Amino acid sequence: MTSITNSETSVVRKARSVARIIEAPSTIEGGGFEVYRPFPGQVADWFDPFLLLDEMAPHHQAPGEAVGAPAHPHRGFETVTYILQGEVEHRDSAGHHGVIGPGDVQWMTAGDGIVHSEMPSTRIQTEGGVGHGLQLWVNLPASLRRTAPTYQALLADDMASVSGQGWSAEVVAGSMFGADGPASTHTPVGFARVTIQPGATLHVPITAGHTALVYAFAGTAGVGAAVDELHAHHLAVLADDGEAIALTVADDASEPFDCIVLTGEPIGEPMVRYGPFVMNTHAEIAEAISDFNAGRMGTIPASGTT
Ligand code: MN
Repeated sequence: MTSITNSETSVVRKARSVARIIEAPSTIEGGGFEVYRPFPGQVADWFDPFLLLDEMAPHHQAPGEAVGAPAHPHRGFETVTYILQGEVEHRDSAGHHGVIGPGDVQWMTAGDGIVHSEMPSTRIQTEGGVGHGLQLWVNLPASLRRTAPTYQALLADDMASVSGQGWSAEVVAGSMFGADGPASTHTPVGFARVTIQPGATLHVPITAGHTALVYAFAGTAGVGAAVDELHAHHLAVLADDGEAIALTVADDASEPFDCIVLTGEPIGEPMVRYGPFVMNTHAEIAEAISDFNAGRMGTIPASGTT
């Protein structure tokens, strides 16, 4: 764990304005759990290089009733899972296996193709518990779509912890607040969980030209140059017209503001997406479907053989 107190972010930078705020509609995913999905949806398909964002809604799982996402494929991009509450057990056809809990991240590069399952852990399935988490899909450059699959298990203690007056952040990826997150990425991506207390203001420095998003999962903040209100289950999309994301929480707020800040250099290449596959051409999508159907993305080893 890197733990530093940040002074750099107290420098006031020109705040980016808010291009739009998207209320995440809820939908049912996987084995039947509710997710808030700000994108893709009716408002926007994606924010280069980010392809999808899901918040698995906080839900109580009774013993024997926890549901997840059983075996399914991916090719051509990365899936990133961040656990807020509960535990998720991952298995994949490349032989990776792991259980992640609160504050942990699983950063999986599907690349050439993988079959994986994302299920509540055996303990949660047996004992029950609350599940809450986020999943982000990160695009890959055209030249890296079929790179070998990899799996990074990043534990809460691995994150770079940064704090200042009335705020704290856990940096997962990229260089943010003067700290470097532990995730290895293929293009410049920043991912941090940020918590801001009532009465505090934070400026998050952002590289010019990079996409910048804030997804709130608890509390309310004023965001951007015009201090638009950002509530839980809403995504703020920042315009590229300033040097920082400004976040302010009112003195009389009843709870801290809790969010994920995402930044990324746009890849700027054409792509074709179809369900769990994101490729460069329609022909490559057809190839991915036939490779999966023929078993060429592999199978998940039987559970118990960790
Ligand atoms: Mn998946």
